[in-house]
Amino acid sequence: MKIVLLGPPGAGKGTIAKALMQMDGSVQISTGDILRAEIAEGSDLGQQVEAAMAAGNLVTDELIMDIMEKRLLDEDCKRGYLLDGFPRTIPQAEALKRLLAKLGEKLDCALELDIPRDVIFDRLTTRRTCTNCGEIYNVKSKPPRVEGVCDVCGNAIMQRDDETEEAIENRLRVYNEQTAPLVEFYRKDGLLVSVPTSDLEPVLAAIKERLGN
Ligand code: AMP
Repeated sequence: MKIVLLGPPGAGKGTIAKALMQMDGSVQISTGDILRAEIAEGSDLGQQVEAAMAAGNLVTDELIMDIMEKRLLDEDCKRGYLLDGFPRTIPQAEALKRLLAKLGEKLDCALELDIPRDVIFDRLTTRRTCTNCGEIYNVKSKPPRVEGVCDVCGNAIMQRDDETEEAIENRLRVYNEQTAPLVEFYRKDGLLVSVPTSDLEPVLAAIKERLGN
């Protein structure tokens, strides 16, 4: 599968991507995870993007395209990919379209998780992330077995810098201004599949219907 996942931060793109990965071995590519790994490593790139990310602003299109142009050439992408958090702007979507045309590849669809704002706000302020492996928890709906400790790798679970109320407000505003126009972009390209939920079953049903199996 080659799918772009669209939807505001906290819509559940990562969770859906992980479920789809298990279906056919497609790889999840999260630009947010790539950038957070660079910050954790203390690389030049990480230092460059740290402040923008903590405030909930986007990093530049050039920087993201540099990363993605290399990443999509990796061997594991041949099995398909689930793009989680990319593209995030119209210029990124246009650059992706050109890149895929050059590689002779086509997206199967752009899946929009159309989730109401109050649900998103509540989900993000209660979300916690493992500082080591990135596993996602929720203090209300999916707490770890031991408070503050990751079930998967035993490292500390934290609230991300960009999940304070102020940063979340900003990320939702940035989404509405810069990313929401991609819904129309992909509708015009005949690629949009929109679902009003991030519950796995209806999402999978919509994708299967779209892919014709
Ligand atoms: P995410 O984990 O997808 O919510 O991304 C976290 C943060 O990483 C965003 O708020 C941006 O600062 C940055 N980021 C991730 N993907 C992109 C992208 N495609 N374009 C610009 N900034 C991005």
